Order: sequence, then structure tokens, then C-alpha cells
Amino acid sequence: MKIEQRPLFGLKGRLALVTGSTRGIGLAAAQTLARQGATVVINGRDPLSVQRTVDSGKNEGLDFKAMAFDVGDPVAGVQALDRIEQEWGPLDILFANAGIQHRAALLGFDLADFQRVVAFNLTAQWALAQHAARSMVSRKKGRILFTGSITAVLGRENVSAYTAAKGALHALVRQWSAELAPAGVTVNAIAPGYIQTELTEALWTDPSFNAWLEKRTPAGRWGQAQDLAAAVTFLASDEASFITGQTLVVDGGLSSTM
Ligand code: NDP
Repeated sequence: MKIEQRPLFGLKGRLALVTGSTRGIGLAAAQTLARQGATVVINGRDPLSVQRTVDSGKNEGLDFKAMAFDVGDPVAGVQALDRIEQEWGPLDILFANAGIQHRAALLGFDLADFQRVVAFNLTAQWALAQHAARSMVSRKKGRILFTGSITAVLGRENVSAYTAAKGALHALVRQWSAELAPAGVTVNAIAPGYIQTELTEALWTDPSFNAWLEKRTPAGRWGQAQDLAAAVTFLASDEASFITGQTLVVDGGLSSTM
């Protein structure tokens, strides 16, 4: 009998969309997915920076495609998914990664800012992934991944809207797994700890925050975007077909320790 030889975690022939992938966690995940053989659609709001990311990926031999759209606009997201399927075929992997932050103390937190953060980090993610799920269910396979947050696991001041939305994503993956697992579609989240990207620049440029973080994190350092990329790629692979409804915390041990 001929045994099929396939590299572990291989993604050859898969089409993936990674939202918010011109830099940070999304870019590192897109690069790793593509290195495992996937065709990866790069997204951000700015068409020029999306194209620059695609070009630099292609220079490295990565199969990147460009699709600029505003993830905060659910109608634009649904239209982009339809265009992706028309141009490059059915989507196998959605990594709904883009997110926004707004920091303010709870008692002065403006309701409009709360609604804006929840609309982006929860409602728009729900709508994008719902549309992707319809197509995946009809083909009886797919991988949906969200980016949650350690702030949905452990409380911290000044991020009340962000925490509410990311916490809802952690709950959502459990609920969606109940509806989508019978159709061969898995739904999981990664929950990053403190990762050194543009989003956290105000924190890693603050020496007192750095000193606190390095002492508080058992691994003794900031996370890097690359630390998340392998987790995303594993959950997107065939090898993770029995893992659904989970949130994988990637935080150097911070949330496991006092
Ligand atoms: P970055 O700020 O480094 O990257 C953000 C990416 O998202 C860019 O590609 C940006 O491109 C894109 N983006 C921003 N707004 C939109 C939009 N409206 N539509 C489409 N794309 C958009 O962020 P991170 O990599 O740090 O964060 C990625 C995810 O990880 C987010 O969901 C964040 O909440 C989460 N997270 C991050 C942590 C960290 O410590 N960094 C910790 C926990 C969670 P452009 O600006 O050109 O649109």
C-alpha cells in the first residue's frame, strides 16, 4: 500500500485570509502560513502598504495576494470575501486578526469609544467570520481563527471596551464550535500576552512598564509576533482537525503564575 508523504502542518493548496497582515502579529502569521505552502491574502486599510507587503513576500518566494479593505466595515468585509473567492477560489483559512485598542479609565470611558471598539473587535469579526463559515460549511471544511487577548483572561486597568470585546471572542469560539464542528469547520482563538508591535509601542517605550513586564512574565521578555505565528499555523493545519472551541494563550507563562 502506498503511504502518502505529506509534511507535518503542510498547507500546500490552501487559501488563507489574514486580516491586519501588513505588520505585527498578522504579518508574521501570514509569512509562516505561506512558508507552509498556503496562498495568503494580505489585508490592511492602505492599498499601498498591502501591495508593498505582497511584493516583499513575493521577493522571498511567498504566494501573497492583495486585498485592502476596512475590517471595521462589515459590508466591505463580506464583499472582500466574495471577491477573494471569485479571484482565487474558496477560502480554507480565515485568521480574523485585526483589532483596535482605546485606553481610558473606566469612570471616564466615553460610550462612543466603547461602541467603536466593540463594533470593530466583536461585531465586525462576527460578521466576517459568519460569511466565511457559510462557504466553508457548504464545502465541509475550514479553519476559523480569531485573535483574542490575555486581557480577556486577567483584568487590567484602562482597557474595559477592548476586554469586553475580546472576552466575547473567547466565548464565541466555544459556541461556534458547537454549530460548525459537525460540518468539519474548526473555530479557535489565540490569546496573545504582551507582544512587541506598533499597537503596544506606548508600553514598550515606557521603561517602568518594561521593568514590570520582564519581572512579571516567567519567560522574562516581551513576546514577538513570530511567537504567535507557529500557534496559528498549527491550528490552521489538518493536524488540528480535532481541536475546536479553544483559546490558546501565548504569553510566556504570565497568566499561569502569580
Ligand atoms: P499592529 O498595530 O502591529 O498591526 C495592525 C494591523 O492591522 C496592520 O496591518 C494594520 O494595517 C491593520 N489594521 C488596522 N486597522 C485596520 C482596519 N480597520 N482594517 C483592516 N486592517 C486594519 O497590531 P498587532 O499585530 O499588535 O495586533 C494584532 C491583533 O492582536 C489585534 O487584534 C490585537 O488586538 C491583538 N493583540 C495584540 C497584543 C499585543 O500585545 N500586540 C496583545 C493581545 C492581542 P493598516 O493600519 O494599514 O490598516
